[in-house]
Amino acid sequence: MKLIDSHCHLDSEQFDADREAVIERALAAGVEHMVAIGSGDGPPDLEAGIRLADRYPPLYATIGVHPHDASKATDETYRRLAALAGHSKVVAIGETGLDYHYDHSPRDVQRNVFVEQMRIARDARKPIVIHTREAWADTIALLTEHWASSNLGGIIHCFSEGPREAEQALAIGFHLSFGGILTFPKAVGVQEAARITPSDRLLVETDAPYLAPVPHRGKRNEPAFVVETARKLAQLRGTEPAEIARTTGDNFRRLCLSMS
Ligand SMILES: [Zn+2]
Ligand SMILES: [Zn+2]
Repeated sequence: MKLIDSHCHLDSEQFDADREAVIERALAAGVEHMVAIGSGDGPPDLEAGIRLADRYPPLYATIGVHPHDASKATDETYRRLAALAGHSKVVAIGETGLDYHYDHSPRDVQRNVFVEQMRIARDARKPIVIHTREAWADTIALLTEHWASSNLGGIIHCFSEGPREAEQALAIGFHLSFGGILTFPKAVGVQEAARITPSDRLLVETDAPYLAPVPHRGKRNEPAFVVETARKLAQLRGTEPAEIARTTGDNFRRLCLSMS
């Protein structure tokens, strides 16, 4: 079984003591690639993911400004993002989007910075990775207005909504990436969304170090644990984990590496 963890924060200080061992454990568990999300601590540092991907061959990277850090973005940030988008290991722009749960940046600033990053991704011909929390309606409205016509697609990372929202995201060309929440017993809406998502739109992720799947729930998450989410997804869809690994791997390569 060869899995791809489509979203993890390997730059997190929680991995400073054992990052190499974490990557080794993932490879040993069958995780052949990991996407190091590059939002880091936000601008001016936009290279948190690239630094890791340059160092560790199994890693890809993204670049982007997390909605939490939207108020740190400047014109220089956008120039830098546009320049870094051409790096050979950068597979997508993000995570970007809207977070109305924490509201670490004002909502109008979050929306502006989100739209700017869609423009950069469109110019770079790269997909986008979306973070959305308690902001579903605004997220879909902005994606519909500013992104859908690009036909570049993207990923709703850590998909945490229900089947109705899944349909909305699928209708504008998105892939849905399921993480540890899928394994939580009370996450029935997310589980139903995972059941109805077409197999060519599925991805899996950890969002490590956050949101570890059962049976690691509450502990530090790491890419090796994506196996548990793949297992749950297989169970929900009446298939085998190896089949989930094959289809999600194909989907990732088609979307992010432009391979079919
Ligand atoms: Zn996120
Ligand atoms: Zn994340």
